[in-house]
Amino acid sequence: ILDVRDLRVNFRQDGALIPAVRGVSFHVGRGETVALVGESGSGKSVTALSTVQLLGETAQVSGSVNYEGREMVGAPEAELRRVRGNDISFIFQEPMTSLNPLHTLERQLSESIELHQGLRGGAVRDRIIELLNRVGIRDPETRLGAYPHQLSGGQRQRVMIAMALANNPDLLIADEPTTALDVTIQAQILELLAELKRDGAMSMLFITHDLGIVRRIADRVCVMKDGEIVEQGPTAEIFASPKHPYTRMLLEAES
Ligand code: ATP
Ligand code: MG
Repeated sequence: ILDVRDLRVNFRQDGALIPAVRGVSFHVGRGETVALVGESGSGKSVTALSTVQLLGETAQVSGSVNYEGREMVGAPEAELRRVRGNDISFIFQEPMTSLNPLHTLERQLSESIELHQGLRGGAVRDRIIELLNRVGIRDPETRLGAYPHQLSGGQRQRVMIAMALANNPDLLIADEPTTALDVTIQAQILELLAELKRDGAMSMLFITHDLGIVRRIADRVCVMKDGEIVEQGPTAEIFASPKHPYTRMLLEAES
């Protein structure tokens, strides 16, 4: 579903070009979950954001990001917006950045649903309740009028996941979706993502520092270091016999 070939990203800064991603290639098959792991600053988020060209003005991108036969690098903004709206959803690290503090849950969710699915009225409300149930918000009927600040961090992240699912994306990109949460809530959210994976149809690109969850939900792993993928392969293989010294170090640090 997603084919990334020799992706390179440089950022223009004070007349210089600073490399962030230096020739990365990987593939996410339909229904597959691919994990991107690696140390802070290794280029994981930049790689993820490149898929739908969300990097801003200072980024210079080359190589190819092919989504379902459509090239994303250099694609017109209207095409990228369509893909972001209909096909690829993101879950970011910090939930507050993407929820509007002035809108109730019902309003945040109904906007995405009306926009992408053309539902109206009672059907929108039914769909919201279905989504909130799916992400484990209890008694969703009573929470429709809540504002983001009236929810816990874990509930906000669940709402973010509901928003990401609202348009039935074919590809879900989760960039460290639990880092901002405390440990027990992290486990619950990861369990929810594992469930979504079991449900099947969606493909996932999953960025995390948590190798435990990688082992549980990823089909393949890409290990990034200094803007490159130093090793990639099926999860079981990477965990059983890591070839690159950096991968070995990561796995040892974990156990
Ligand atoms: P973390 O695990 O901490 O989230 P990461 O692997 O996601 O790290 P990236 O955010 O992809 O790392 O950053 C890779 C490199 O690109 C870093 O050196 C970062 O400073 C740089 N970078 C990222 N975004 C920009 C930007 N908009 N402008 C300039 N440099 C950037
Ligand atoms: Mg990051």
